[in-house]
Amino acid sequence: MGYSAGHVREPFSSSSVVRQLDDCTFCPKMCRHACPVSATSGRESHIPQAKMDQLNQLRLGRSEWSEESTESLWACTGCRHCTMYCDHGNEPGLVLLAGRAEAVRRGAVPPVLARYADRFAARDERLAQTARQSFPGQLATEGEIGFWPGCDALDKNSADIAAALAVFSAVGVDLPIIDSPQACAGYPLLAAGYSELFRWHARKVAAAMRGFRTVVINCSACLHAVRAQFPAEGVRPGAEILSVGEALARRVRTLPKAVRRRSVYFHDPCHHARYCGIAAEPRAVLSAVAEVREFSWHGKDTECCGGGGLLPKTSPLLADQMAKRRLSEVQARGGGMVVTSCATCTFMLKRNAPAAVEVADLSTAVAQLTGTAYQPPTVAVVAGDDEY
Ligand code: SF4
Ligand code: SF4
Repeated sequence: MGYSAGHVREPFSSSSVVRQLDDCTFCPKMCRHACPVSATSGRESHIPQAKMDQLNQLRLGRSEWSEESTESLWACTGCRHCTMYCDHGNEPGLVLLAGRAEAVRRGAVPPVLARYADRFAARDERLAQTARQSFPGQLATEGEIGFWPGCDALDKNSADIAAALAVFSAVGVDLPIIDSPQACAGYPLLAAGYSELFRWHARKVAAAMRGFRTVVINCSACLHAVRAQFPAEGVRPGAEILSVGEALARRVRTLPKAVRRRSVYFHDPCHHARYCGIAAEPRAVLSAVAEVREFSWHGKDTECCGGGGLLPKTSPLLADQMAKRRLSEVQARGGGMVVTSCATCTFMLKRNAPAAVEVADLSTAVAQLTGTAYQPPTVAVVAGDDEY
């Protein structure tokens, strides 16, 4: 299908995890500049080497597993930027996920993640219901192509879903939302260390996707989860899995013309650019209707918006500071529009955008730039006390 199924979480006891922990423990910290978490927090305990060293000390029994001793395992968005600068190709973002699973097994998790599995399930059920109420007559259980909007879009930016349906319609594609009892494809369970539950959830999501030949996913972390982590857990959705940018890029010649071409910045979601190798496709789509400008850190060298790895739950202030840091470059250049292609990145960047910076999801940007009409749902999303 044109993408690699590598880069997946491995069991904590695997020889690869042990080797990576040993490599990092004795490393002269070659990747320290690349970690957006430590660069933003300014804490030495948040650099990749220190997080991996701490996990190694826990593995070796030199430190007790506790809420306090595992704190740094959660200070990672899984953005994979450190791996770009590692001569060993080490994957702290994935090794720390294995460490989180071990921390859950030992009951050493942050209080903010208490009852996490129950809260995830309640939110998932609520948002699946929201999809049915907000988009009546636009859901399907089978077909050529189906849409997985992403739980953060359903919860916080449902107008972006309406825009996606309208833009695909404009290029001749009827894109129904996949009617499923699940709204999230499951990445947060992986990030929370609930690997067994993730596998169980993945089977349900794959069953809902199996009725479609192609599935378009608007969440970068869940795109990678379905493409790579599902098969690694023995779960196969049986559909071709595409990002919105990839699906639209195949139809770029049929995109409506821009009403007025303007310059826009593109923010690459980490799980697109670094895990799935998706960078050219959204740019091909945007270039058809706008002039694309680049951040200093872009493409495979993109910088995380702070939305991954459950950081907005475990360290919300730090996650918001990361989003602000990401947008500060555009602000310093006088402001403008920032386009991205992930429901979670859109939410994080939007809520932290300064007045001079406008943030838009890829489909919404294309709709706005081409004058494609869309009708945001009128059903108000009911906030739950299940926010995970
Ligand atoms: S990921 Fe690579 S460069 Fe970074 S601390 Fe580990 S061994 Fe060193
Ligand atoms: S994956 Fe990203 S957030 Fe995690 S340690 Fe590496 S650079 Fe830092």
